Amino acid sequence: MPAARGSGGLTAPAALRYLSHMRIVLLGAPGSGKGTQAQRLVARFGVPQISTGDLLRSAVARGTELGLKAKAAMDAGALVSDDIVIGIIRERLGQMDVAGGYILDGFPRNLAQARSLASMLALIGQPLDAVVLFNVDYAEIARRIAGRRTCPNCGTIFNVHDAATPGITHCTNCAAAPLLTQRPDDNEQTVARRLAVYDEQTRPLIEHYRAQGLLRSVDAQGAVDDVTARLVAVLAPPKPAAKRAAPAKRKVAAKRKASAKRKVAAPRKRAAKRRSATKRKGAASRKSTASRKSAPKRKATRERKPARKSARPRARKRARL
Ligand code: ADP
Ligand code: ZN
Repeated sequence: MPAARGSGGLTAPAALRYLSHMRIVLLGAPGSGKGTQAQRLVARFGVPQISTGDLLRSAVARGTELGLKAKAAMDAGALVSDDIVIGIIRERLGQMDVAGGYILDGFPRNLAQARSLASMLALIGQPLDAVVLFNVDYAEIARRIAGRRTCPNCGTIFNVHDAATPGITHCTNCAAAPLLTQRPDDNEQTVARRLAVYDEQTRPLIEHYRAQGLLRSVDAQGAVDDVTARLVAVLAPPKPAAKRAAPAKRKVAAKRKASAKRKVAAPRKRAAKRRSATKRKGAASRKSTASRKSAPKRKATRERKPARKSARPRARKRARL
């Protein structure tokens, strides 16, 4: 199974329309759908998913020294020691493909890990952009974990209870359609322990990140596609103060531009007026009165133009969404 998946359909520029980069953490209980949604974000924004769970499982599968150390804790539903997971993350964040951002899934899982991550990122001057909390109730979590299946070849997560893939047994993404597998720690007893560990050690991160102004929440119940839509919506960039001020500036600039245009247009308009006046010699005096009367109206129309232009920043914001 790939430890951290590469870029998907869309490329970094798509992510850049959301946040200036996409250095985000997905926070939530086991089975809240972080992994599934991370795969969707990879496909959509082209930034890699970094899942400590996947990296650890890969180490276990390869039988590395680190894998052997991690295995017992994982099988018991406990956390793997901080020095191991922090070491894994430090190495992973040093790779080239994270330059445009990344989706951290399953890390940090306690305050010590959060602090280590913060100092690692501070060192390179690249702080997190957002932490997204997945809200799901425990009954739904138990159901999801019981139904979770993974492709041993491509790593795609499926669920036998999902309306789109009821009772699925084989991967629909791989040509060879390998048999899906169930994670060894997805059994009832281990799940109960994992949920307890989440409550005790990971839940405090909610307040930790809320206090830093990084926390965003998403309702993670319901259909996978609906959750993805909500997730993408909460990742839309916040409106920074500087940007909110911009439309006003643009309005002034637009007014100036319009008045400059009027100045340039004026001699031409006067010439046109003269021509038409010469043509309609007969009714000259009445017409000129009428034209004077209508002049303020035309002016008013022209002055509305900048107001229409001021709609442009709004349109730009929408385009960025
Ligand atoms: P889930 O979120 O469904 O529990 P993960 O794949 O994220 O699944 O994690 C599986 C297991 O890997 C965890 O129960 C834990 O033993 C270990 N693990 C993953 N990430 C961390 C981490 N950041 N710190 C410590 N242990 C971790
Ligand atoms: Zn597959």
